[in-house]
Amino acid sequence: TFRALVVTKPDTGYSCNFADFDERDLMDGDVTVRITHSTVNYKDGLAITGKSPVVRRFPMIPGVDFAGEVIASSHKDWNPGDHVLLNGWGVGETHLGGYAERARVKGDWLVQVPFGMTHAQVMAIGTAGYTAMLCLMALEAHAITPERGPVLVTGAAGGVGSVAVALLARAGHHVVASTGRPEEGDYLRGLGAAEVIDRAEFTGPVKPLGKERFAGAVDTVGSTTLANVLSQTKYGGAVAACGLAGGMDLPATVAPFILRGVSLLGVDSVQCPAVVRREAWRRLSGELDRDKLDAMTQSIPFDEVKDIATKILDGQVRGRVVVEIG
Ligand code: NAP
Repeated sequence: TFRALVVTKPDTGYSCNFADFDERDLMDGDVTVRITHSTVNYKDGLAITGKSPVVRRFPMIPGVDFAGEVIASSHKDWNPGDHVLLNGWGVGETHLGGYAERARVKGDWLVQVPFGMTHAQVMAIGTAGYTAMLCLMALEAHAITPERGPVLVTGAAGGVGSVAVALLARAGHHVVASTGRPEEGDYLRGLGAAEVIDRAEFTGPVKPLGKERFAGAVDTVGSTTLANVLSQTKYGGAVAACGLAGGMDLPATVAPFILRGVSLLGVDSVQCPAVVRREAWRRLSGELDRDKLDAMTQSIPFDEVKDIATKILDGQVRGRVVVEIG
């Protein structure tokens, strides 16, 4: 057996507790991994607390990410001793996940830990940071260059937001960081934000067209915030939408699309094709300043993962959290 955080759904409701899990009860897969580190993303908070139905198999081991060492493999790409990481693919939702000392998964889901990076560093990036890179890549594919004007990051002090601020600033953009935590202004400027603004600017009534402020944006909030960001995007600009921390709805009009040629770029990390993931991780290993990564990361022992889950849903976690598993 090995130690795991296990979600069950008895008749009495939803529960999430540490338990000894039998290795024979792991699901099918061609690679077995000894997990050393995981992390806490917003979605992990939903899975641990049961606040949204992200877990669709019981019992479930939550945790949408892990890093570790291969201990058994019948997959052509992987051998015992290889250092691997995993993000998404339904792990922690439909397939047993990362809050455990062992995982058995499809080898096709794994990515090699980039050369020169530790397991802790790749989990400091985690799904949140890899998604921030996917957002940057989406904006680049839409030719949003620094010359075109400022770029906005919403939910800037969160996990996706913090990494997005650092990556966009390094790429030469004038980054405007929107946050509900003014006390994190120095933190965000330290990551590279040129301006820090109050997220309340995007929570008022949505005008079909607002003042043209941003060439591009990374939005982690959704809802009224995303609608307001779209209406304040410059002619021909683009918004990479990846999150719903403020809500799943989108109370917008089509005006920005049809009168300003604004594009809404959807970003999904879970089913993202392997070649795109590898490219995202290759770029993260070179383009994310390690000192900035350290500045946005705290480490916690496995025992504290449930406390952080509640905090992240309340918007009280700054940056990224690494969970030390093994
Ligand atoms: P996080 O660390 O909790 O960051 C979310 C941030 O959003 C918070 O730190 C807060 O930033 C802001 N926020 C929270 N509640 C809000 C509200 N009610 N109204 C406005 N702003 C609010 O979470 P994360 O792990 O970075 O994830 C961010 C979002 O991206 C989540 O919705 C997550 O599900 C989504 N996501 C999607 C993908 C994908 O594949 N599409 C991948 C990863 C994450 P401030 O305090 O700075 O305002």
